[in-house]
Amino acid sequence: MKIRVKLSAWYFATTLAILLCFSFGAYWGMQGLLLSAVNEELNFFLDEIEQSYRPADGTFTSLGKNLLTDRHYLKFYLIVYDADGDEIFRSPLAQNISLDIPLPEHKIEQSFTLHKTLLNMPALHYNVEKNVAFQAVSRQLFKNENQVGWASIALPVTSVEKTLAHLLKTLVLSFVAITAVVSIGSYFLTSRTLKPIDKITIKARKISESNLNERLEVDQNDELGRLSIVLNDLLARLQKAFESQQQFMADAAHELKTPLTILRTHWDNELDNTELSVTMKEKIIHDIETLSRLNKLINNLLLLSQTETVQAAKNFSLIRLDELLLEIVSDVEVLAGLRNQNIEAFRLVNAVVEGDRDRLYELFFNVLDNAVKYTQTGGKITVTMDVDAQEVIVKIRDNGPGIPEKDLPYIFERFYRIEKDRSRKTGGAGLGLAICRLIAILHNGSIMAENAKEGGAVFTIKLPVYIEQKKLKNIVVDTG
Ligand code: ADP
Repeated sequence: MKIRVKLSAWYFATTLAILLCFSFGAYWGMQGLLLSAVNEELNFFLDEIEQSYRPADGTFTSLGKNLLTDRHYLKFYLIVYDADGDEIFRSPLAQNISLDIPLPEHKIEQSFTLHKTLLNMPALHYNVEKNVAFQAVSRQLFKNENQVGWASIALPVTSVEKTLAHLLKTLVLSFVAITAVVSIGSYFLTSRTLKPIDKITIKARKISESNLNERLEVDQNDELGRLSIVLNDLLARLQKAFESQQQFMADAAHELKTPLTILRTHWDNELDNTELSVTMKEKIIHDIETLSRLNKLINNLLLLSQTETVQAAKNFSLIRLDELLLEIVSDVEVLAGLRNQNIEAFRLVNAVVEGDRDRLYELFFNVLDNAVKYTQTGGKITVTMDVDAQEVIVKIRDNGPGIPEKDLPYIFERFYRIEKDRSRKTGGAGLGLAICRLIAILHNGSIMAENAKEGGAVFTIKLPVYIEQKKLKNIVVDTG
């Protein structure tokens, strides 16, 4: 899962949890506040009744006439009992309905929320059947520490319920809106925060052995800026290690070249010696061939170790690639003929590339030579070409054994050979494809290998096209 999705999910989950806690807290808090305000009013009312107790005749004076007529009190459900538990007062509402509020056995008051379905109650403005919530309090009544009676009182709390329903609606709407804003906002915010990482990744991916001198941009002084600095240090160390390895390879190749040339000249001279027997001369010819192979290997090593020098000394001219390919095919045909193989080149369209003729020759020759080497006797090799406005794509296919999938990513590395014995028999040292890749890179192109579905290896070489085939007239090209 992408980090930005993960972070957004975390933000989302945290906001969800905070909002849920807040909403429940706000709802329950508000409900508690409103109901305790009602409880207070009910208790205040009972306090008044309690205060109005007259011990002389055992009556509550406040339960007088006005309590039955005052419109304000019509909403109250009130039942008062004397010390013996006999009912002595019932409010008009209590005469119409019964809420069955239990009376407490002890001093502590009790409060409840009750629901009752009421029908046709003009005094309460209910003209239809309605389930009404009541907040009720019941307690003992005292005068000078003596219990003088009981009372149960209740009040419809429709307005409290309405307020709570309104609050719930507001909370749900805000919850949905805040969640949407937070989830979209957090996604954009994390994307923005992580953008520099994308930049670093893209840049770092582009850095390879051919451009190890490039560095990541450090444009902020935060964790990501520090990461770029650390990666740049790492790149600098890698570059140094790579350069010293290149230098070692160049020095070793250079040192080997002189004695090899001396040996070669020596054996060449020896060949002219008329006193030598035919067997001896054959041995010398064999040694000269080995020396030539060694010389080629050293030249390749030198080429690979001097990438920058080679790049600086580019000897580029305009080249008709189709003609060059035909020339290489006809040269390789000689080798293929020895193994009874068939090479075919088709769809070779006119195209001009800018490049070094000898190096391009080497690139295509190496790939074709490999195709001949690694394809069985009697095998088939084809060369095709496609051109568009940007690039020339050359495909070289064979019907040999192909390249094992596990080796595909490595075959362009130096000294990488798949079956060491097989390659040694074919005279390879594992440098051919590394050279091909270097040449392709020097020409701003690429080379890749894959296996065809029907079997055999397919090498695709792409080079930037210099002139499209239609505009070819009047261009002077290097014909070798
Ligand atoms: P080598 O000098 O050994 O040929 P290369 O760098 O040219 O080295 O090739 C690397 C390896 O890739 C070879 O050892 C060979 O096993 C494999 N390879 C190259 N071309 C082909 C091909 N057309 N078919 C099968 N294997 C191939």
